[in-house]
Amino acid sequence: MEINIQNLDNERIELDDRCETDFLDQEIQRFYPEQLNLHILVDKFGRDVRVDVKLHTTAHYTCHRCLAEYTAAFDIRDEQIYQIGEGKLDDSDEVIQLPGNTTDIDIDPMLAEMVLLNHPIKMLCKEDCKGICPGCGADLNREACRCGSAEIDPRWEALRKLIK
Ligand SMILES: [Zn+2]
Ligand SMILES: [Zn+2]
Repeated sequence: MEINIQNLDNERIELDDRCETDFLDQEIQRFYPEQLNLHILVDKFGRDVRVDVKLHTTAHYTCHRCLAEYTAAFDIRDEQIYQIGEGKLDDSDEVIQLPGNTTDIDIDPMLAEMVLLNHPIKMLCKEDCKGICPGCGADLNREACRCGSAEIDPRWEALRKLIK
């Protein structure tokens, strides 16, 4: 997605847009298959262009405990400052330098980084998901564990007698 800054004076513009997520790394993209809804503020002041992005989409996650697939609202916000032209006025790494003849700012890298930074390390369908019993494979959110039940496979029963 590109933002045209060619005719921008020292002013603020506000725009709403949506885009596909095919610019994301495949590894990440599978969690965000739906369009991104963007609310963008662009402030130009001299050589500085500040881009403020509010991003909303629906994420498709898989619970790490019970392996259920679920969707979750994904709402994030971040800003990036671009500086147009040679000679860095600001030494911080936060500022991205662009050539003086820049007419459009490609914000895909910014969006990709926003998604990546806010991507959950641990996905849980709900805070207190009980997960799957490693013994019997029961989904403990919906059923009771069968490990302690009397239904023991007869072959195991034979083995158990041998151990005794
Ligand atoms: Zn779960
Ligand atoms: Zn069990």
